[in-house]
Amino acid sequence: MMFQQEPADILARLQGLRDADAPTHGGHVLSYVYDSGLAGLDELAAAAIRMVQPVNGLDPTTFTSVATMEREVLDFARRVLHGDGDVVGTVTSGGTESCLLAVKTARDNWRAAHPDAGVPRLLAPVTAHAAFQKAAHYFGLALDLVPVGAEGICDAPAMIERMGEDVALVVVSAPSYPYAALDPIVVVAAAAAERGIACHVDACIGGWVLPWLDDVAPWDFRVTGVTGVSADLHKFGYAPKGASVLLQRGRDRQRAQYFATTRWPGYPVVNPTMLGSKSAGALAASWAIIRALGEDGYAELAASCARSTAALRAVVGGIEGLRVVGNPVGPLFAVATDESVSAERRVDPHHWADQVRTHGFLLQLQPGLLQPNGVRLPSTTHLTITPVTEAVLPELSAALRAAADEVRGVPAVSAADVLAALPAEALGALQHPDAAPLDSQTAWSLLGSIGLAPTGAGAPSGAVDAESAGSAAALPDRLAPFLALVEALPAPLTERLLTELLARLIEP
Ligand SMILES: *Cc1c(COP(=O)(O)O)cnc(C)c1O
Repeated sequence: MMFQQEPADILARLQGLRDADAPTHGGHVLSYVYDSGLAGLDELAAAAIRMVQPVNGLDPTTFTSVATMEREVLDFARRVLHGDGDVVGTVTSGGTESCLLAVKTARDNWRAAHPDAGVPRLLAPVTAHAAFQKAAHYFGLALDLVPVGAEGICDAPAMIERMGEDVALVVVSAPSYPYAALDPIVVVAAAAAERGIACHVDACIGGWVLPWLDDVAPWDFRVTGVTGVSADLHKFGYAPKGASVLLQRGRDRQRAQYFATTRWPGYPVVNPTMLGSKSAGALAASWAIIRALGEDGYAELAASCARSTAALRAVVGGIEGLRVVGNPVGPLFAVATDESVSAERRVDPHHWADQVRTHGFLLQLQPGLLQPNGVRLPSTTHLTITPVTEAVLPELSAALRAAADEVRGVPAVSAADVLAALPAEALGALQHPDAAPLDSQTAWSLLGSIGLAPTGAGAPSGAVDAESAGSAAALPDRLAPFLALVEALPAPLTERLLTELLARLIEP
């Protein structure tokens, strides 16, 4: 048959769309992307993906390559994470799915052991990844988030005090995403084991880099009481998105991860993960990358990350008005205002990030958070360092310093000022939201009044040029005012507004 459009034209349009994306290579985006800096590795991954493109990962008995690749990836992961023959696992589609499945496994094992009990509890520090909030929500667990210290450090005694019969899973991180804190895993896991509670170590971000860094306290299967570890291949495993490993200690425990049914007239369904039919692409790419790099390759890339991280921490440490938060472990850290200097010498981390962006580097703004116990976590800016960072270190260091000089003394955006600048109507709606949930139209017009309704998105059908570059959906240049609102507005309202924003982005 004739195609409606020439493949070359279709791909040219896609290239146009891609050109509007944040750059995925070259070290200018310090979150989301994990660039090994090795072009050959990307090519290898692409070739592997292409080779398995038609395969259905649903059935490794029909497509036996899937089983072999998965077994070999798990074997490597188990060795690196010091698991013995009792540790088994699965390759999942990413960190969120690994975390979801760790919780699902724990819930079902807990239910089997407590047939007459009520709602199980998920116990974690406030800094545990949001994926665990999602897991509690999806799988019906009560979420018990334990406040952390002001520097983002997990409070082990507080965690242990809250361990009880109803706790199905305790979660700790290696390290946490927001502040790169390595949680007190030995202590928490031992206490959990004593009480017969499962303990998951979320090493989604650290799992493929901490094993090759010096002076990291034990956090993996060497630690007694650790029943599971998640480690994302699509982060410091350098694989394309769609791959993570979930390892669990104990075959019998792990089998609760599976869903199986023969109670329908179709094929017997046996799924270790959330999806049915699935791509084998990210698995094949991960498998190929692991073979290419081996332990030595990962060690070399980790060493590069460590050098760059040390250099950048020194740069930030030398900038008057900023400071590194807590005691970060691994190639990531958060930066906050140094409140030990006078107000006119302080640097607000959100103004700083917005200003760094004008110098060509994208950092990630993180909102401050008031914990239920009154301990406030500061507004911060997050940097994740990858091997490619080393190539741009001088340029990046200069940008970090210059941006700080340019915004030093500028006070943090006050949410009250942002709100005062809004039309009275929008202000009323924001401050006195109806008891009833916001409808889509109201949410959308509120977004418009805060300047967050991207032109183009959500417009009546036909108003947007179907061949436009798609750049209409880009975020505003300055995110500090937006983060101030996230910190100030009630979370349910912000969550509803952001849902509307993301939903409108893809409405035809
Ligand atoms: C990235 C991350 C996750 C979630 O992973 P996704 O791959 O984004 O779904 C979970 N935990 C930690 C610590 C992470 O850094």
